[in-house]
Amino acid sequence: GFKTGIVGLPNVGKSTLFNALTRTAAAQAANFPFCTIEPNVGEVAVPDPRLATLSEIAGSKQVIPARMTFVDIAGLVKGASKGEGLGNQFLANIRECDAIAHVLRCFEDEDVTHVDGRVDPLADAETIETELMLADMESIEKRLQGLVRKVRGGEKEAVQQERLLKDAMAALEDGRPARTVEVSDDDMKTWKGLQLLTQKPVLYVCNVDEGEAAEGNAHSAKVAEKAAAEGAVSVVISARIEEEISQLDDEEAEMFLSEMGLEEAGLSRVIRAGYQLLGLQTYFTVGPKEARAWTIRTGTLAPQAAGVIHGDFERGFIRAETIGYDDYVALKGEQGAKDAGKMRVEGKGYEVKDGDVLHFLFNA
Ligand code: GDP
Repeated sequence: GFKTGIVGLPNVGKSTLFNALTRTAAAQAANFPFCTIEPNVGEVAVPDPRLATLSEIAGSKQVIPARMTFVDIAGLVKGASKGEGLGNQFLANIRECDAIAHVLRCFEDEDVTHVDGRVDPLADAETIETELMLADMESIEKRLQGLVRKVRGGEKEAVQQERLLKDAMAALEDGRPARTVEVSDDDMKTWKGLQLLTQKPVLYVCNVDEGEAAEGNAHSAKVAEKAAAEGAVSVVISARIEEEISQLDDEEAEMFLSEMGLEEAGLSRVIRAGYQLLGLQTYFTVGPKEARAWTIRTGTLAPQAAGVIHGDFERGFIRAETIGYDDYVALKGEQGAKDAGKMRVEGKGYEVKDGDVLHFLFNA
């Protein structure tokens, strides 16, 4: 599955957010056991109103949303790259994630200590980013040393890795994260394989006070500006509100939200932003038994999309009966779409579109 690591300085609201994320009614409603893989790892349902619409049309008994994994990575402090705080273990946890949700404290509260004694989300962002950059520089140095002999021997892959590691190092020495390096298509696979911490896409989560969740505040505005300049994404939430909402049932939660002037729970926005950040999209399988959402990377071809359900589907792939989401809804289901000639038969080269309703045929 796809994993997002929640990072941030101590006392910014990471655990509050993580607990809210993994306890939310949405995560549990669809018979979605919040599974504790480890105390700090949780799975959440990806909110998608299309799934309810599809299941209603098909009369599906069960509805199974797509899911995403969040990991609460505590312990990142100044000096982490030098093994201070809980240091390297946490950097290793981040390495395993596909994306980073960086929680920034944008709330003022004298009762909650700030590690540096003041609320300044941009400075906090820099503190964390600096640790990640230092950790990358250290690991690049080690890896370059490890490559020396192979490069001398003229090994092609080693030569390519060395070149890309040096590109990353140049950016880092210039004070920029590795994700700012432009990489050609030919280098992309090797580049991704480098697994540097600052390569990962970042979502800034501005944690504001209860009263500011709808509009944000001056702190979160600065973060939004920073994010825009970096081509990153930022969302405003109040972790405290989300914690309260996560304990309510759907109906109560909706009332609470409208009282606060909010259209949807901030968590839904965090989850969806994470999804977007990872370049993910959804296709559906729909029938009387279940309606289910499946996650794929944008650009995935039909056989690999089938492989998300089961390896046999990919290996024995024959074709995919395909109905676009809008057609499925407008024509009131599979039969209607078939009758109107809107069910297409797609082959191995088909690039699955977001919202496609698919039925795979395969050799067992
Ligand atoms: P972590 O160390 O980053 O995991 O931070 P926690 O989630 O443990 O939160 C630290 C403290 O800040 C707790 O006492 C939270 O209740 C409090 N806190 C979290 N979010 C907010 C918020 O939006 N407003 C206020 N006033 N306090 C918050």
